[in-house]
Amino acid sequence: MKSITTLLIAFAISLCTHAQKTYIHCGKLIDTKSGTVLKEKTVIVEGNRIIDIKDGYANTKKKGDQTIDLKNKTVLPGLIDMHVHLEEETNPNKYIERYTNNEADVAYNSVGFAKTTLLAGFTTVRDLGGSGVNIALKKAINKGKIVGPRIFTAGKALATTGGHADPTNGSSRKLMGNPGPKEGVVNGVDDAKKAVRQRYKNGADVIKITATGGVLSVAKSSSNPQFTIEEIKAICKTASDYGFHVAAHAHGDEGMQRAVIGGVKTIEHGTLMSETTMDLMKKHDAYLVPTITAGKEVSEKAKIKGYYPEIIVPKALEIGPKIQNTFSKAYKRGVGIAFGTDAGVYEHGYNAKEFAFMVEAGMPAIETIQSATVTNAKILNMTDQLGQIKTGFIADIIAVNDDPTQKINTLEDVVFVMKEGKVYKQ
Ligand SMILES: [Zn+2]
Repeated sequence: MKSITTLLIAFAISLCTHAQKTYIHCGKLIDTKSGTVLKEKTVIVEGNRIIDIKDGYANTKKKGDQTIDLKNKTVLPGLIDMHVHLEEETNPNKYIERYTNNEADVAYNSVGFAKTTLLAGFTTVRDLGGSGVNIALKKAINKGKIVGPRIFTAGKALATTGGHADPTNGSSRKLMGNPGPKEGVVNGVDDAKKAVRQRYKNGADVIKITATGGVLSVAKSSSNPQFTIEEIKAICKTASDYGFHVAAHAHGDEGMQRAVIGGVKTIEHGTLMSETTMDLMKKHDAYLVPTITAGKEVSEKAKIKGYYPEIIVPKALEIGPKIQNTFSKAYKRGVGIAFGTDAGVYEHGYNAKEFAFMVEAGMPAIETIQSATVTNAKILNMTDQLGQIKTGFIADIIAVNDDPTQKINTLEDVVFVMKEGKVYKQ
């Protein structure tokens, strides 16, 4: 009996003294920092980190180490989508579900959406608004209870009364009530500060505002300005006290300008952006998150009779198809581009379709990949942790069949996914 115990102890000690390493043999490896494609490398992972990268195909050194053969694949860092909504997914009943779904229904749905997103190669996302279930979702993923990407979440987006993301838009007056900063509806500078502080208290990581009207809200305008510049400044200033950056949904130019001057870090959609605003963005180091996929999908769905409430249809048909062209102009004018798609507005898991749309609009393939890795890591304050396959970085690694710098839509079929050193798809 004693000898078995001794053996078990010896075995446990051997496990402790030698953590298992994974040797990933990469036929091609994209260096996202320099924008070059390297050949025949071995990435060595231990725990949740990349501990070394060697030339050629290195053999495992110790018993228990494992090798992953990606010799005929292209390997790149896990992708980052700066604009998703993991609580929801488009469907023709969505506007009724606001009144029929409980939080638990939303939560169960979001579990599937999170998994789909990770398996599509997106190991990190910024969730730009839901009911607050997205905060619980983030915690559950971090604790390993469910499978999904690393989430930076806004919790509930901030709007003004009747604005895009006022949660009671389109309700009967009996149900409208008077939502305030706690529910993310602000009117005035004091409300603005209170709403940001409430998001901090709730466990959010970033702040999202709706600087202009939006397409999918039950309201007339898709693009009017909806915050005063004083309100936006108060939000951005308060947000910085908590280490948050601010993302602004915006289609119309005036609201967009106020947001950029007010201090937001990213403009979402940017549909009707003028050249003046593009130059302002460069000056203020703000980034455009294009969401071309969402624009296209929404305008297609608007052609299906009854898919959206009537008030939404003309907005979707007008705004949706314009996004790609604005992106093209902004990119060519030198505005920083942060990859983001608005997944949830279309079906989850198709985030990578955005790459081909960006390339079609004139951005070189390697730059679209850099946008979804190093650029987004920088905005998320994770420059030395995410967005590169580099010694010391978190082991978020994916692989595709072809070289995406030559064939961009290979990113729509991710064949290998590792997040924090753990393999989820192979
Ligand atoms: Zn959105």
